[in-house]
Amino acid sequence: MKSICVYCGSSAGNDPAFRAEAVRAGTLIAEAGLTLVYGGGRVGLMGQVADAALAAGGKVVGVMPADLVSQEIAHTGLTELVVVNSMHERKWKMAELGDAFLSLPGGPGTFEEFIEQWTWALLGFHAKPCGFANVNGYYELWRKTVQQMVDAGFVAQQYGDMLIYEPTTQGVLARFRTYAPPPPKWGIAPVEQRY
Ligand code: AMP
Repeated sequence: MKSICVYCGSSAGNDPAFRAEAVRAGTLIAEAGLTLVYGGGRVGLMGQVADAALAAGGKVVGVMPADLVSQEIAHTGLTELVVVNSMHERKWKMAELGDAFLSLPGGPGTFEEFIEQWTWALLGFHAKPCGFANVNGYYELWRKTVQQMVDAGFVAQQYGDMLIYEPTTQGVLARFRTYAPPPPKWGIAPVEQRY
């Protein structure tokens, strides 16, 4: 594992614990010698995680569509800012560059991004772990939603169980290191990325 792709809010949320965890996440990723891959903004939790990783001497790669560069206020101090043409290209690039996916608290964009990676993982399009820093239980309702999908017969239990929930980023990173992917849904081996 050489890099972590972080999904999180372009807003900071209203619980100071969210901001504190974003700072811890950026610091831990940098201190572990991992590259931070994220959406490239300097606002909200996105900005916090990037600033913290840079302050700890880490390598930070941001990926942002050209038409969001001004709205989300692209971070100007990154190791690299990859400007792409569309949101789809952004998600593809972030997914390609990240060896694991960490979600901190966030809004609809955050959910959209991690749900995509979970679905690609269970299809075997990649074999990378997906985890949640479940700060103050922020992801408990999502966890229940996943269990509802399992209970209603829309997804197998093993694909609900492949999602990692820990109260802290530190806990998620530890579990990333021992992650073993489940067999893909249609039996196709995740030999390489196929998206
Ligand atoms: P949010 O969690 O809504 O604050 O958004 C977090 C990040 O996700 C921001 O960089 C948004 O630009 C991005 N985002 C929002 N909607 C989408 C989407 N449909 N697909 C991909 N990224 C998105």
